[in-house]
Amino acid sequence: MNLTSAHPRIVIVGASLAGLQAAQTMRRSGFEGEIVMVGAESHYPYDRPPLSKQFLAGAWDEAKLTLRGAVDPAEHDLTWMLGRAATSLDLANREVAIGDERVAYDGLVIATGATPRTLPGVDLEGVHVLRTLDDARSLRSDLAQGEVVQPRRVCVIGAGFIGAEVAATAQQLGHQVTMIEAAEAPLARVLDLETGMAIAELHRSNGVDVRLEVGVEEIHGEDGRVDRVVLGDGTAIATDVVVIGIGVVPSTDWLADSGLELGNGIVCDSTCLAAPRVVVAGDVARWPNQRYGNKMMRVEQWDNALEQGAYVGKRLLACLAQTDPDQTDSDQTDPDQTDSDLEPYTPVPWFWSDQYDRKIQLAGVPSNTAELVHGTLEERRFVQIYSDEDGAFTGAVAWNRPRHAIKARQLLLRGGTLDEAREELA
Ligand SMILES: Cc1cc2nc3c(=O)[nH]c(=O)nc-3n(C[C@H](O)[C@H](O)[C@H](O)COP(=O)(O)OP(=O)(O)OC[C@H]3O[C@@H](n4cnc5c(N)ncnc54)[C@H](O)[C@@H]3O)c2cc1C
Repeated sequence: MNLTSAHPRIVIVGASLAGLQAAQTMRRSGFEGEIVMVGAESHYPYDRPPLSKQFLAGAWDEAKLTLRGAVDPAEHDLTWMLGRAATSLDLANREVAIGDERVAYDGLVIATGATPRTLPGVDLEGVHVLRTLDDARSLRSDLAQGEVVQPRRVCVIGAGFIGAEVAATAQQLGHQVTMIEAAEAPLARVLDLETGMAIAELHRSNGVDVRLEVGVEEIHGEDGRVDRVVLGDGTAIATDVVVIGIGVVPSTDWLADSGLELGNGIVCDSTCLAAPRVVVAGDVARWPNQRYGNKMMRVEQWDNALEQGAYVGKRLLACLAQTDPDQTDSDQTDPDQTDSDLEPYTPVPWFWSDQYDRKIQLAGVPSNTAELVHGTLEERRFVQIYSDEDGAFTGAVAWNRPRHAIKARQLLLRGGTLDEAREELA
């Protein structure tokens, strides 16, 4: 692909996993134009999963948060604009605004991820969310003051994956942890009720006080510092530290007037194209996954950010190649047209979570219909498979059964049936 004579510029907004993967893929594919990485955080890209695990536990320092295969900032000849948030997008003039500055692009990757939801009281000292390295530094210093950990009372609000991992890490550090969840069980809406109850039991058996089916009325403070959490049933829980883990919203505020379709993320087509020359990847992208009957998906998972980032890198180059200067005028196609020879993006989602000595892995898409095919929930080594209303195999969750999880993913990739899943994952 010869794009050099046109000196095109690609702007990537969101300098993290998906954005960096897009940049690396474009360079590896021979793209020689300029790539500008715009990142709201002041850090070069780093890995988020350890923030609630090894980093929070104090077992890893920041040097170990480097992304796999990345990133010597000088590598890949990228232009970094860090600590700078994009503030708006002008599709007609192909410009990204960063405050007063305008950066023109020939192609744009949007990979702005997601932002934690908060609650009133989040500004009190001792109250945290966990998304960024700065969040993690602050929480870690509140949990592990100095070499010796002083046992503290920690309230985790929300038992999603992040909340459950923070609760497990804090408990293992020796703190006194309460985990509060409004639903019937942790992750009941994400996985299934039985697996959610097993997660509740896992935490209880490790000493966490798990409160289910109760909301939070107030995060209360005294002299600017949190001192208790008041629940919907009137119970007050005295606390030193609060972690709010009630989910995230896609980071799309800056695109409000852009003309892009927004709705639980940036809506794209099946090839992750949101507008001519604009592709989207990672936690912020919402696209129809043809593997699952064009179900609109937005996936908050590490593997997806990596895979989709690589995919959109190729997708954008395919758009730009339509202006290849080596082609004759009559060969030229419209660079703004949106069709592409590239196959649609049809991943099998893949997720893991580490809590205590359990590795929970999820392949594919969960449903309300879960069937235990291996092990028992009591021994916490099991495999549940999921199916849809038509009886199609859609996904599997495995606890401390990594080989089963990989097998489930392979089976999903080759379109295996529910009977095959029952047999092969037993
Ligand atoms: C604590 C924690 C633990 C996790 N653990 C797991 C796990 O065990 N397994 C798993 O599969 N996944 C896990 N994840 C999820 C995984 O890390 C995410 O899915 C992944 O980081 C998404 O990558 P991304 O590049 O799409 O977005 P992000 O990593 O969120 O990066 C988006 C970047 O864009 C920047 N940005 C936002 N708006 C703007 C703007 N207007 N201008 C410029 N920059 C902007 C943000 O500051 C951010 O740096 C975890 C996440 C967290 C926070």
